[in-house]
Amino acid sequence: MKADTLGKVVQYTGTKLNTKGWQQEAALRMLMNNLHPDVAEHPEDLVVYGGIGKAARNWESFDAIVHSLKELENDETLLIQSGKPVAIFKSHTNAPRVLIANSNIVPAFANWDTFHELDKKGLMMYGQMTAGSWIYIGSQGIVQGTYETFAELAKQHFGESLQGTITLTAGLGGMGGAQPLAVTMAGGVCIGIEVDETRIDRRIETRYTDVKTDSLDEAIRLAEKAKQDGVALSIGLLGNAAEILPEMIARGFIPDVLTDQTSAHDPLNGYIPEGMTLEVAAELRHADSEEYVKRSKASMAKHVSAMVEMMDRGAITFDYGNNIRQVAKDEGIERAFDFPGFVPAYIRPQFCEGKGPFRWVALSGDPEDIRKTDEVILREFSYNTHLCNWIKMAQEKIQFQGLPSRICWLGYGERARFGKIINDMVASGELSAPIVIGRDHLDSGSVASPNRETEAMKDGSDAVSDWPILNAMINAVGGATWVSFHHGGGVGMGYSQHAGMVIVADGTKDAEARIERVLTTDPGMGVVRHADAGYDLAIQTARDKGIKIPMLKG
Ligand code: NAD
Repeated sequence: MKADTLGKVVQYTGTKLNTKGWQQEAALRMLMNNLHPDVAEHPEDLVVYGGIGKAARNWESFDAIVHSLKELENDETLLIQSGKPVAIFKSHTNAPRVLIANSNIVPAFANWDTFHELDKKGLMMYGQMTAGSWIYIGSQGIVQGTYETFAELAKQHFGESLQGTITLTAGLGGMGGAQPLAVTMAGGVCIGIEVDETRIDRRIETRYTDVKTDSLDEAIRLAEKAKQDGVALSIGLLGNAAEILPEMIARGFIPDVLTDQTSAHDPLNGYIPEGMTLEVAAELRHADSEEYVKRSKASMAKHVSAMVEMMDRGAITFDYGNNIRQVAKDEGIERAFDFPGFVPAYIRPQFCEGKGPFRWVALSGDPEDIRKTDEVILREFSYNTHLCNWIKMAQEKIQFQGLPSRICWLGYGERARFGKIINDMVASGELSAPIVIGRDHLDSGSVASPNRETEAMKDGSDAVSDWPILNAMINAVGGATWVSFHHGGGVGMGYSQHAGMVIVADGTKDAEARIERVLTTDPGMGVVRHADAGYDLAIQTARDKGIKIPMLKG
């Protein structure tokens, strides 16, 4: 951290309030947590993850947000516009304490060029998904989703596990760094190509990756040996994916499974073109951004061509939510969309039941609070062995980053039930401080993203973004503690619109009522959105759970 920003990010823990209520306190602690050096990828630039996904527009805005949250009354609502606090209105105690709109641009102008112009003028920031909505929890936030994806892939293609298979991927950043751990959790071997050695080191420090090498030969040798022995192993390979994939093909190495999680959604600040050191890339980005973007897109085209070739030679290949296929297609790679996105391939049935990356964070800072909530999951959801196995594995393998937290995919009905239990535990003093409950924007009813969450919808409604807007509005009405609406997360400008929600369990009866409402409407939107699109499982879920859908068919 730079000297002038050092000290601004404070990890508040314990039971002493720094604000006028637990809801404001939660927002303050989560903003700080997003930028904690153990959590954020580049905290000195306010960058949390996902290319330039930021928590606040600039340090001046950060200071003003912190000040506003400290002064905010229990019946006021703070408004944030692309990372800058712009107003405080009197609302009421059951209203959200914060409303956030990040990176939204009128559709005909919604591209990176407009964004960069606005960003340069200091009028906007890129909020990604959980960066600008203050509910990022480090790589754990994606690890179960990644595990669910690989576990489903294993089920569809290899029986029950990834044992005896090699998965090749690239990008070991904030989210991508979860891939090696998810693959080894599913019993497989992973080679993760990463161009920035400090990122590999961070994954090794946090036990997401086992070993590193800068030698392609060594990576292949280690991977093939582990595959033969049937042992799980993850290898961070230093290099550029656009160069290494063709090199692997030239050597006749084809992985069993292939994907990618470089920050391809952002050709200027995310993806590193081939043939450049990080320093040279940074210089070119600064000196000639147009040339940089040109080279970056050309490298992505090469990268995707190699993926298609590996697929043709037998690798089970899927897009992992970074929009790399779209860039390659725009660059003239006709077959870029020959491999599917991970949602239609592996995840959509879960979305139909309102399941998605639900998470909670101990505001106390005490890991014991999370351990106690883990026990609740094991007790209350013991019928779900897959979920219980996940919790046990997470307890053993996941190192907390910043405030202790947990992720697990819960669906409609389960989230509200669990939320109430947590609130009761706070009320009784079993937990030492309130808990924040939230989720990724990548969820069942909160995103419109035609190349990702809503790719290949049954009724062709991929690009309809009314759904996330309804999601944000109903969660605000229900009294979520903060609600956000963003553009461009995951896949970049012009390709997605999505909503986030966070709610605080502070042990009060008011909180109990808000939790019941919000943790019902939020996953409910997922069931409704998929039922409306004609998915049988969602229609059945709506019927079983008694969700009122006026024109439900089927
Ligand atoms: P990040 O910016 O923290 O990390 C990206 C990493 O890719 C960096 O470490 C960078 O050095 C590396 N990289 C860039 N170009 C490379 C190249 N040519 N070869 C090898 N490595 C290269 O981003 P993140 O948070 O890890 O997210 C990665 C991508 O996944 C983003 O596009 C993001 O939007 C997307 N994403 C997907 C999901 C999902 O569930 N599928 C969830 C969140 C984010």
